Amino acid sequence: MSLLVTGVPASPGIVIGPVHLLRWEVPEVPARTVPADTVDHEVARLHAACDQAVVRLRKVRDRVEQHAGPEEAAIFDVQISICDDADLRQSVETLIRQGFAAEKAFDLVLLEWREHFARSTNALMRERVSDLLDVQIRVLSLLLDLPDRDPVDLPKGSNAILITHDLTPSLTVQFDREAISAIATDAGTGTSHVAILARSLGLPAVVGLRDATAKLTSGMQAIVDGTHGLLILDPSEKRIAEYRRRAHIELEEARALQRYAQADSVTVDGVRITLRANVDLPDEAAAAATSGAEGVGLMRTEFLVVGRAAMPDEDEQYEAYSRVLRAFAPHPVVIRTYDIGGDKLPVGGFPHEANPFLGWRAIRMCLDEPELFKVQLRALMRAAVHGDLRIMLPLIVSVDEVRQARALLVEAAGELRARDVPHRSDLPLGVMIETPAAVITADALAKETAFFSIGTNDLVQYTLAVDRGNIQLVKRFTALHPAVLRLIKRTQDEGAAAGIEVSVCGEMASQPLMAFALVGLGVRQLSVAPRSVAAVKHLIRTMRTSAATDAVAMALEVGTADAAEKLLKERLLAELQQGGEAADGLLALVDTHILPDPVDTH
Ligand code: PEP
Ligand code: MG
Repeated sequence: MSLLVTGVPASPGIVIGPVHLLRWEVPEVPARTVPADTVDHEVARLHAACDQAVVRLRKVRDRVEQHAGPEEAAIFDVQISICDDADLRQSVETLIRQGFAAEKAFDLVLLEWREHFARSTNALMRERVSDLLDVQIRVLSLLLDLPDRDPVDLPKGSNAILITHDLTPSLTVQFDREAISAIATDAGTGTSHVAILARSLGLPAVVGLRDATAKLTSGMQAIVDGTHGLLILDPSEKRIAEYRRRAHIELEEARALQRYAQADSVTVDGVRITLRANVDLPDEAAAAATSGAEGVGLMRTEFLVVGRAAMPDEDEQYEAYSRVLRAFAPHPVVIRTYDIGGDKLPVGGFPHEANPFLGWRAIRMCLDEPELFKVQLRALMRAAVHGDLRIMLPLIVSVDEVRQARALLVEAAGELRARDVPHRSDLPLGVMIETPAAVITADALAKETAFFSIGTNDLVQYTLAVDRGNIQLVKRFTALHPAVLRLIKRTQDEGAAAGIEVSVCGEMASQPLMAFALVGLGVRQLSVAPRSVAAVKHLIRTMRTSAATDAVAMALEVGTADAAEKLLKERLLAELQQGGEAADGLLALVDTHILPDPVDTH
C-alpha cells in the first residue's frame, strides 16, 4: 500500500527510485553477560569484528580517495588506527574477562573514550570524537550482526534515494554521487545543514520526515518530491506515471526560466537589484557561474571541513578560494570565515555543548583559536590576487569582534609579507547581520565594516527564539514575522545611512514571495541558491519596486506572520497578474506548499 510521508521541502526536484536505507546510529546493545568458559570465544569475536571493520574501512578509504581525494580519505586512516589500537582492544578484553559480552564491553569502552576525548583540552583529541562514534557504530553492527551499513556500497547509476536519520559529515563524504540521486532524512529543516548541502549538490531532498526510517526497508520503491517536501513509499503505477509527468513539467519550467538567467536584473520601474549566488563547495563554482549571478554573495567555508580528519591547510584553502574567484571574475566573491559549531558540520573537534546555537561557534571560536583563524585569513589574502575577494565575519554581536578580527588580519598580512608571498591586504571586511544585537548596534558596526549581509536563517532563529533545526518548530520559524521584517528594515536603513552595501544571503532571498518582501524593505542586493537565480530574476523583471514597498509597509503593521504572508501573497499575485503572460511560471512558484491529491492505495 502506498504511504505518503510529509516532510519539509529542502531541495527541489523529483526522483523515482529504490530506497537505500542507512541506519547510522549506535545500536541498542543488550546487557548480556557471558559464562567464564565462553570468554575466550567472546574475545575472539571482538578481534574478528575489529579486523573485519578494518577491511571494510580500507575499502571505503580507497573509494573515497578515488571519488573525493586524499584529504577526505585520511579520516578513514584515523578510524582504521582506532580499530587497530592495542590499548582500546585491551580495555575491551578486560571487560569481557569480567563477564561482559563482547558487544557490551565494546560499547562501554567506546562510550568512555568518547567522553574522555570530548572533555580534552587538546583540539586534536576532540577531533577524534566523531571518528570514535563511527567506529563504535561500525564494529557494533558487525558484533550484533545487523544489516550492512556501508553507505557507499551501491553500484553507480542506482538512482537511489538515500534515507537516513541525519546526514553527518562522515556519511556525506562516503556516499557516491553517481549512485545516489536524492536524499530524505528524519531530522532537519529547510535551513539546517543537510538542506543547504543538498541544494549545493543539486540533489532533490526532503527533510524533517520524523520517523520515516522506521517505516521502510532498503530496496522498496519510492518517490522524493523535493519541491513539495514529500516522500511517497511504494507508489502505485498510476502515481509513478503522474510523477514522471510532473518531473517532466518541472524540468520544462526550469528550462523556460533559464531564458531570464542572463537578462538584466531590473524591476519594471527601473530599480536595479544585484543578484549573487550562494556557493558552498568550490566544485560547484563553475556551474554556479553560469546561473546568471553577478558574483558570490556567500561562500560558506565550513563545507571545506566536512568529514575531514584535520583542518585544511593554507595552500589547500588558497586553491579552493582561488577556484571560486576565477570562476566568477571579474565579479565580487564574498567569502565567509569559518562558521563551525551549532548545526554546522563540526569535525568532532568541538566540545559537546548544552546549547550549541548559543555556544562556542563561528567568530567566537575563530577569535579564541587565532592560529587556526590566521591560516584561513592568509589563504584568503593570497587568493585575493585573483579577483575581487571580500571577507565576511559570521555571528557578530559586537564591534569588539570586528576589531579583534581586523587585528588578526593585520597580523596575518605581516606573516605573508615576511614570507614574501603575493597577497592583498586591503580586502573589504564585512559582517553577517544575524543576531538582534548586530541589528540594534548596526550604526556602530557600519562605522567599522565595509558591508552588511543579513543572514535571515539565524536572524529568525535568534529573534523568535526558534531553533532553526527543530522539526517541531517548523511552523513557528516565520521569516515574515513583523519583528524580523522590522529588524531587516532597520539594518537596511542603517546601512544606507552609512553608505555601505546591504545584502540578504539567508534562504529567504531565494523564495519569490520573500524576495518581493525584501525588495519592499529597501534591500537591493540578494544572494540566492544558484538554482533560484533565474526565478528571482524573472520576479524582479516582472514586479514594480513601488508595489513591493506599499505591500511591505502594510505587512509591517499587521501584527502576525500569517497576516503578513497573506497580504504579501495577495499583493504579489495581483502584481504578477498585471504582468500578464510575462509572469507565467512565477505564479506556481509563489505558492509552493501545495499538497498533491490524497495518495491512492492499491
Ligand atoms: C544565515 O544564517 O541566514 C546564513 C546565511 O548563514 P547560515 O545559514 O550558514 O547560518
Ligand atoms: Mg548564519
